[in-house]
Amino acid sequence: MAKRDYYEVLGVDRDATDEDLKKAYRLLAKKYHPDLNPDDPQAEEKFKEVNEAYEVLSDPQKRAAYDRFGHAGANGQGFGGFDFEGFGDGGLGDIFDMFFGGGTTTGAGRRRRGPVRGADLRYDLEITFEEAAFGAEKEIQVVRLENCPDCEGTGGKEGSEPVTCSQCNGTGQVSYTQTTAFGRFVNVKTCDRCGGEGTIISDPCDKCRGRGKVRTRRKISVKIPAGINDGQAITLRGEGDIGERGGSPGDLYVYISVKPHKLFKRDGYDIYCEVPITFGQAALGAEIDIPTLEGTDKFKIPEGTQTGATFTLKNRGISYLRGSGRGNQYVTVKVMVPKNLNDEQKDLLRKFEKLTSGKEYHEERKTFFDKMKDAFGM
Ligand SMILES: [Zn+2]
Ligand SMILES: [Zn+2]
Repeated sequence: MAKRDYYEVLGVDRDATDEDLKKAYRLLAKKYHPDLNPDDPQAEEKFKEVNEAYEVLSDPQKRAAYDRFGHAGANGQGFGGFDFEGFGDGGLGDIFDMFFGGGTTTGAGRRRRGPVRGADLRYDLEITFEEAAFGAEKEIQVVRLENCPDCEGTGGKEGSEPVTCSQCNGTGQVSYTQTTAFGRFVNVKTCDRCGGEGTIISDPCDKCRGRGKVRTRRKISVKIPAGINDGQAITLRGEGDIGERGGSPGDLYVYISVKPHKLFKRDGYDIYCEVPITFGQAALGAEIDIPTLEGTDKFKIPEGTQTGATFTLKNRGISYLRGSGRGNQYVTVKVMVPKNLNDEQKDLLRKFEKLTSGKEYHEERKTFFDKMKDAFGM
């Protein structure tokens, strides 16, 4: 399942204040609390979702990371174990610093220097059976991080220049002394004022609040290849979130779910359907209408067709995803026994039964009775 946008989950704007978030969270948490919805299994899922969204958005660091990197940022996935627990003061990160001399292993800090690839995004798209069979072109709307149009990604107001960070004098690092069980160490750490950039934006852009990026709703056209099946994904390279400092953008994965068809079942590239025929058609043979992917078609069933008989229509199934050609269509006929007969019809059938009794027009019946005689020594 694709994760829903946290702001969407809480039903608040991207600029929501902490107070707004709290209010929305309280309302929703109450609404979906499992204790108050004992009969609704979805409530618990919703409750978890709301809690997760609030946990991230109510924490300024996590919220900033989420705004920049989406779910990957908030959950510490996607770029080498970016870990909030070790963020900052005296956590595991610092201990590692001492042994490996990196000085700035706190994920975000180190990554801020070089290019960072944008986050991959996922979109779930439902299509019809026919669209999967023949391919289609669909327009979807995704929300992704793009360069802020107002400041063109700089994060500063027009004319404003980034200024040297006074805390680290532009180095992006600050040294500090740490006392641990292993002794005292002078250590170097990412400057928390500028986030390791060495510069800060003195006059931040109003639109993006200095981040240089904004979430933007974008229409994207998706070409769905003929033959795609439920659960498969189409990759749109570079249509994910924009990267950081020249990093390439992420990809967009469009996951396909195919709506079931009223008449057809699919197995690989073959399709199956069942067609009801009358007793008379089955006995005498007939030309019947059968459904196909292209509409209806005439099909001749032979005299004496039994219920459950299956006919193969070659190359009338789904187009192969790779290469040319198609699967087959299998038509299974189901003989309907007449119901609610009137007296005249019943009389005719009785006459028919009399005419056929004693003579074996039903091979299977004959074999069955032979077996029965054998079994009971009759
Ligand atoms: Zn901006
Ligand atoms: Zn600094």
